Amino acid sequence: MSDDITGAGGGTSPGSAASPGSAEAAGSGTAADAARIAARTEALFRASGALRDGHFLLKSGRHGDRYLEKFQVLQYPDAVVELCGFLADIVRDPGGRPTVDVVVGPTTGGVLLAFEVARQLGVRGIFAEEVRDADDASHREFRRGFTIAPGERVFLVDDILTTGGSLLAMLPAIEATPGELVLAGVIVDRSGGMTEVRAETTGRVTPVRSLWTLDVPTYEAGSATCPACAAGEPLVAPGSTGTKGV
Ligand SMILES: [Zn+2]
Repeated sequence: MSDDITGAGGGTSPGSAASPGSAEAAGSGTAADAARIAARTEALFRASGALRDGHFLLKSGRHGDRYLEKFQVLQYPDAVVELCGFLADIVRDPGGRPTVDVVVGPTTGGVLLAFEVARQLGVRGIFAEEVRDADDASHREFRRGFTIAPGERVFLVDDILTTGGSLLAMLPAIEATPGELVLAGVIVDRSGGMTEVRAETTGRVTPVRSLWTLDVPTYEAGSATCPACAAGEPLVAPGSTGTKGV
């Protein structure tokens, strides 16, 4: 099942032309590029089992016919390298040079992504972790001595954009530094078309770019509302066998 992924670095798969550092990948920005990247991203998610079609019982109690488990794809380093290559290309100038100084992400998936995107760009990659507050709420914070210097341009990366909450939670941590957040990049946009995030504290708007847009409709249980229920397909509760999906 992982042939498509493990073959990504072998030069035989359709996506290999966009491997990091290739001339073709640099400066990609046409509609054809975007379609190719989206198709390749979907192929990597499907081949790894990160995107499944079926009849799923979601945490919310609603039913869905698609299920995402991002860590299924993130467990394959070759796939992560390729996906991060697409993200890195978003912040290169036409000469292939990075237009940012530091890549940041939220734990846990964002640690992997910030590392690899930064590695490909030749800049720093750091992460913000969740810190519990006294009132049992939480916020994100750069710890471990991570700093962003005045004027440094920041690229925020994350895996799945759902409600925008994960990106929004990163904004106060970034805005507490003297750096300048220039762009957010996500692998999958399942938000229904969010193109920017607005910081609650400062009102500052940051554009969001995604590699692949995925529509994940959900339904009330029952044959009157859920097509899979109506078709009599057995219901699967994917979250019960491991970590929760997104
Ligand atoms: Zn159903």
